[in-house]
Parts: sequence; C-alpha cells; structure tokens
Amino acid sequence: MYDVCVIGAGVVGLNIARELAKYKLKLCVLEKEDDVSCGCSKANSGIVHGGYSDEPGILKAKLCIRGNRMYEKLNKELHFGYRRTGSLVLAFENEEISKLQQLYDRGIANGVEGLEILSSEEVLQKEPYVSKNIKAALYCENAGVTSPYEFAIALAENAINNGVDIKLQSEVVGINNANSYFEISLSNGKIITARYVVNAAGIYSDKIANMLEITEYTIMPRRGQYLLLDKEENYLTQSVIFQVPTPLGKGILVTTTYHGNLMIGPNAEEIEDKEDIGTDEKTLKYIVETARKSVPDFNIKKVLKSFAGNRPVANVTDWVIGESSVKRFINLIGIDSPGLTASPAIALEVKEVLQQAGLILEHNSQFISERKPIIKPKIDPFQGSIESTNPEKHIICRCEQVTEAEIVDCLQRGIPIRSLDAVSRRTRAGHGKCQGVFCGPRVKKLMAEQLHISIEDIKSKSNDSSLLAQRVKRIDLRNL
Ligand SMILES: Cc1cc2nc3c(=O)[nH]c(=O)nc-3n(C[C@H](O)[C@H](O)[C@H](O)COP(=O)(O)OP(=O)(O)OC[C@H]3O[C@@H](n4cnc5c(N)ncnc54)[C@H](O)[C@@H]3O)c2cc1C
Repeated sequence: MYDVCVIGAGVVGLNIARELAKYKLKLCVLEKEDDVSCGCSKANSGIVHGGYSDEPGILKAKLCIRGNRMYEKLNKELHFGYRRTGSLVLAFENEEISKLQQLYDRGIANGVEGLEILSSEEVLQKEPYVSKNIKAALYCENAGVTSPYEFAIALAENAINNGVDIKLQSEVVGINNANSYFEISLSNGKIITARYVVNAAGIYSDKIANMLEITEYTIMPRRGQYLLLDKEENYLTQSVIFQVPTPLGKGILVTTTYHGNLMIGPNAEEIEDKEDIGTDEKTLKYIVETARKSVPDFNIKKVLKSFAGNRPVANVTDWVIGESSVKRFINLIGIDSPGLTASPAIALEVKEVLQQAGLILEHNSQFISERKPIIKPKIDPFQGSIESTNPEKHIICRCEQVTEAEIVDCLQRGIPIRSLDAVSRRTRAGHGKCQGVFCGPRVKKLMAEQLHISIEDIKSKSNDSSLLAQRVKRIDLRNL
C-alpha cells in the first residue's frame, strides 16, 4: 500500500514525487511510457518564464513566479541545466507598444522584478542581430532557459535515490475507489494500491479523472512545432526573443537553448489526435518566415531537425489543482505553459492540498537533496579521442564530445534504459551536427555490452513511431 501514487512521470509528477520524498511516505510514480519525460515535458520551448503573461490572481501567474524563483537552487542541487538569460518581447508597430505596456503592468501586478520597456536602440545594443524594424521591447531580466527533459530525469533520479518507486511501462487503465484507498489497475495486469492518488497525466488527465467518473474536463491538444539549428547559429541571440503574444499563445520565439543550439517555434494549432507530434512543411515554412521577422539572419541550411509537442489545453480558464469530488484523489488539469516553469511550485501547492486532504507529513531526515550531473564540463575540447582506452577520455559522440564514461554512468542511475533516444537525452550523444549517424551504432554497442542485451533489442526512440519518422523524413528542412 503506497501513501501516495502519482500518475504521470512528466516534470509536474516528478516534482511532486521529489517534494513528497522529503517526508516519511511510501511513494510511487506510474508512467505508461518506457522512460520518464515522454509527454509534453519532452518537447517544449524550455523557457523559464518571467511571469508577466498571465492575469494577476490566477494560479498560472502565481505559480509561474514562485516556480521561476526556485530554479537557481534546484539546479544547484540537481544539475539539470538552467541559465538566466533574460527575455525580450519585440514590438514592430507603434500600436504594439501599448501591448508591451499591458504586459509590463501585468508583470508588476504579479510581482515580477527586473521588467523594463526598452527603446529600439537599447534593444539593438543588447541583441545586435534582432530586426532593425523594431519599435520597442519589453525586457524581463528573470527569464531563463533550461533543459526540460534533463530536469525531469534529474528529478526522477533524485526521487529514486530517496526511495520513490518509479514504475515505467505502467499505463493506468482503471481506478477503483475502495473507500479508504484506491486500487489502480495497470495495462500489464498489475494492481497498485494507494491511499492518495495524484493525477498528473498531462494531456490524458481528463481520461484518468474519467476513471472515477469525474467527467467535467476535456483536454484538447494544441500542437507546437519547432526547428532546431546548429550551435554555429547561436551568436544571433543571447536572450529569449518573443513577439507580441496572440490569443493562442506566446507566438514564435527565437532562442539559444540551454545547450547552445538556435531554436525557432512554436506555432499553435488545435488538433484532434493527442499522439500526433508530427511536423509539416507548410507550418515549418511559416515558422521560418515569422522567426525571420525577429531575427532575420539565421541560416536555415544549418537546421538539424524539426520536432513538436502538444499542449494540454483544457476546457477551463485556469489550471485545476485540487482535491476532486472524490476524496483523496487530487486532480491536475490543463497544465499547459508555463507549466514547466511552475512545476516546482505546483509540487508545493499539491503538498498543501494533500495535507488539507488529511495526509500527515513527517519530515524525512534522510532526504538527499543532491543529484550528481551526468554530463561533465568539457573545458578542453581536445581532451579525449575515439581511440582512447580510458572511459573518461574515450569519445563516443564526436559532435557533442560525449565520453564512454558519461554513457555508462547514465545507464546506472536506477531508471531502466532501452532506447538510443533515452541515452541521447541524458548525455547528448546524437544531438550534434551528424544527428547520431556516427555515434548511433557505437552507443548501441556500448549499451548492449553494459546492459547484457542484444543490439536488436535497443529501440531508436522511447515511444517509437515509425510512421512519424517517415513523415518527418520527407520534408527537406534545408530548403524551407
Ligand atoms: C509546444 C509547447 C511549448 C511549451 N513551452 C513551455 C515553456 O517554454 N515554458 C514553460 O514553462 N512551459 C512550457 N510548456 C508547457 C510545459 O511543457 C507543460 O506545462 C509541462 O511539461 C507539463 O508537464 P506534465 O508533467 O504535466 O505533463 P507531461 O510531461 O505530458 O507528463 C504527463 C505524463 O503522464 C503520462 N501518462 C498519461 N496517461 C497515463 C496513464 N494512463 N498511465 C500512466 N501514465 C500516463 C504521460 O506518458 C506523460 O509522461 C510548453 C508546452 C508545449 C507543448
């Protein structure tokens, strides 16, 4: 019998699990995929938002700001990768300047520090490669960039280290309320029992709520597509460059990611299929054109790949975080952007909700707050070679200088790893210029040796979809 069972190993569910591990509780996280962070925590902009976008008083605004302020410390403890870069919202027309003022006022009302409206000259001094056509911009000092899936992985590893059971390939297919506890049925035939359940299933949290006949929520996917460019293009921007937001979202941004690639996107399109994370040529062309309005000079021939993620947009205006009509069943519904930013604060909110619902929290003095990084800083880019026999210096991925020692390390951290993608997300092997053409077979060989499995058992992606891969392949990204 678990005290608390969290459904969903995205950045929200894992922040909750790690936060609760600070108390003497028996905890588990159930995840349908074969790795953590396979939902929208995997494919998003990776921006730690400043907190000026949402209306004062709503949960999104409150938790965004609280979450933003927690990143620095969390990154010191967990080493997932976070950098405060600042952000700019560009106005191209005089009429848009009043929109900047609205965002500024909203930010001040929300308690955001470090906001300033800059003239075009001041912006161009900060960011010389943005369009000369801008009229003004809203600068937010406190915005930053993070590596979203490494954040989730770090939380999961730390939670495991603190005794949390993370059960992968454990899709929840039914929940029975047995009055003082819940029986949670999994697709693999097992039944998990828990006194409290937290529904953090992202885009499927409506389906999970439905299992207890809570039928008032519907979640529709709103897809966002992106293009990722080579690190050679990252001289074009230091901060996150937004345009004035649209009713559907924050619009197309241009940013340098935590690991130094230039990234452009996302669009916002309502789609039917929650699993459809394909990209299409027409949308990618639109993204390129729109991004050029902000930063005209990127070289699209330097594109590495396209990808997409689906925002969990619910039929409610604010996030739902609270005990449902079913006692001890906590719902998290519609956690769209800025859910990544807010996720550590959402965990604190859920802890309070659980306490109010009767969960007794007794401090766990054994809690380990630190988690060691996987990726070692590469001070000297020539320190290793592909011939070296020393695992610390034996380079497996030339583009990102990933060593054998880093890959072996990522396989031994308590989360079973069976795909190339899972190794890439932890070490960056395959994330460079050649996109794994050189290192893919070498990583597979090393995985097979270390895990005592055959190379054929190693998949390319965690939630593999060959149909999707074919569709993406047909787009000639360099000619967009
Ligand atoms: C295009 C896009 C851009 C975004 N940009 C930003 C940004 O820059 N900054 C920001 O702050 N936020 C951003 N967001 C929002 C942010 O990504 C999300 O709010 C956050 O990732 C939500 O995390 P989650 O854990 O709730 O959901 P998820 O990561 O989707 O996790 C839910 C998990 O539940 C699992 N699950 C579902 N059903 C079941 C089941 N039946 N049984 C077991 N497991 C199940 C899923 O497999 C999944 O792993 C963006 C989102 C998108 C899509």
